Amino acid sequence: MSTLGTKNRPLRVAIVGAGPSGFYTADALFKSDIDVTVDMFDRLPTPFGLLRGGVAPDHQQMKSVGKYYDRVGTKNADRFQFFGNVEIGKDLSINELKTHYDTIIYTYGAESDKKTGLPGEDLKNSHSAREFVGWYNGHPDYRHYTFDLSQKSVAIIGQGNVAIDVARILAKTPEELQSSDIAHYAADALKQSNVETIYIIGRRGPVQSAFTSLECKELGELDECDILVHKEDLILDNANTTELEESNKAQKNYKILEQHANTPLKGKKKQIEIRYFQSPKEITGTTHVTGLKLDKIKLTGNAYNQKATPSGDELTLPCGLLFRSIGYKGLPIAGIPNFDEKKGIIPNQDGRLTLSDKSPCYGMYTSGWIKRGPSGVLGTNKPCATTTIKTV
Ligand code: NAP
Repeated sequence: MSTLGTKNRPLRVAIVGAGPSGFYTADALFKSDIDVTVDMFDRLPTPFGLLRGGVAPDHQQMKSVGKYYDRVGTKNADRFQFFGNVEIGKDLSINELKTHYDTIIYTYGAESDKKTGLPGEDLKNSHSAREFVGWYNGHPDYRHYTFDLSQKSVAIIGQGNVAIDVARILAKTPEELQSSDIAHYAADALKQSNVETIYIIGRRGPVQSAFTSLECKELGELDECDILVHKEDLILDNANTTELEESNKAQKNYKILEQHANTPLKGKKKQIEIRYFQSPKEITGTTHVTGLKLDKIKLTGNAYNQKATPSGDELTLPCGLLFRSIGYKGLPIAGIPNFDEKKGIIPNQDGRLTLSDKSPCYGMYTSGWIKRGPSGVLGTNKPCATTTIKTV
């Protein structure tokens, strides 16, 4: 009898999800000392997931990692197949996969969004950032969407890199977007845009900004857009000073924010205003968005244990278009045991699925955002995949 994972009887692996973590997972399998064949499935007809539909079209350097994913497939063409347009859980069930494969690895990412729960969340012109990102990237789920770019003011809730991407794409001139691979209909629509003011709203302080410094710095390089950061938002109390001193990321962000705050406004056509300590309370309007009601907060308590205390000092920012950019969330696939609906992840131990009593679920593994939640950059998925494959 042949041993599983050897030349005569390779381990047959199905990878569900052909995004970056799917390719890092396949790569780690091919580099391991087991003999494998890999079939990769995706519900879209094309591979590369977020690299295609999520990474900003003006970040071509970041997109160049697609060549690496390409090579994972082409270098292993005799033992790798990609099946597009196949939705696992719908077109093929997990039970069907189980009959054909020794191992199933879920790498299908986070396909939904966290909800704000705010009154007015469902008003017309209130969108998730995912919809806008998918739209300008030509994603099949979102390419038919429309966004009311006749509005002068836009508010973005959340201060992660997705919020920064959305603000930057709204702020760029048609000339600046020319070298991107933005969908042509989106470039045309943005050419006609009336947007002048873009608010990026943070419910905590500058030290807790979720974006990274390179992305924040890039905002200062826009041709026709000023960046407004209020100096008073950068005043730190003891707890925030401690958090700043202990975080490289926060220090880099803070330095860039100081540069923005110290750069005089030049009266450019557009303005991005980064606001802190503003907790969203309501998206106002009767049929469509007219504003975002905010409650100024104060952070109280010790470092890393600060609580947002509302001050009662309310403010309504006028805006006719709003994006909720507060993080993505994973969805279950029928047949995956023990999915954690609250966190939107598949519970696992070093990548191996675990059941509700924490016992291991052999033959099923996970990697990427659906394993650990939607955090980190593309490359973060590489060590994550390596850990999973060690467990396999
Ligand atoms: P994120 O980094 O998790 O940021 C979410 C933001 O939403 C945070 O500022 C968070 O503030 C805020 N938030 C959460 N719940 C909120 C609420 N109820 N009300 C108001 N604000 C709320 O998420 P993301 O921007 O979607 O990015 C996801 C991942 O993709 C990140 O790891 C990001 O770095 C990565 N990404 C990278 C790039 C790039 O490298 N250029 C581009 C895009 C995305 P709190 O901290 O207070 O919760």
